[in-house]
Amino acid sequence: MTDAGKPKTDYKRIFAEVSANRDKLDACPRHLFAPFPLESIRLGAKVECKRCGGRMDLVALNFYIRGFEAAGRNGNDILPGWKDTADDGTPPRRHFGNVED
Ligand SMILES: [Zn+2]
Repeated sequence: MTDAGKPKTDYKRIFAEVSANRDKLDACPRHLFAPFPLESIRLGAKVECKRCGGRMDLVALNFYIRGFEAAGRNGNDILPGWKDTADDGTPPRRHFGNVED
């Protein structure tokens, strides 16, 4: 089996994109994400910080908010509606979908 005919994966470009995204996220003083409809959640979905433009997946966002709260801060400052209903009516989304608790 050969790779003839298969498009080459541009690892340099992918690495540059990942590095650029990491640089944005690392330079951001505090990420801020817009509330999103729970129906939009899908495996691998990423969200973009309104401050730095960096992107992270929802698992990383979940742990980022939990770490923020572990430091004594309010998760709503990262994702409005995380703990309480957001101003636009978006319901609380702890655990991204467990709105009953
Ligand atoms: Zn950010």
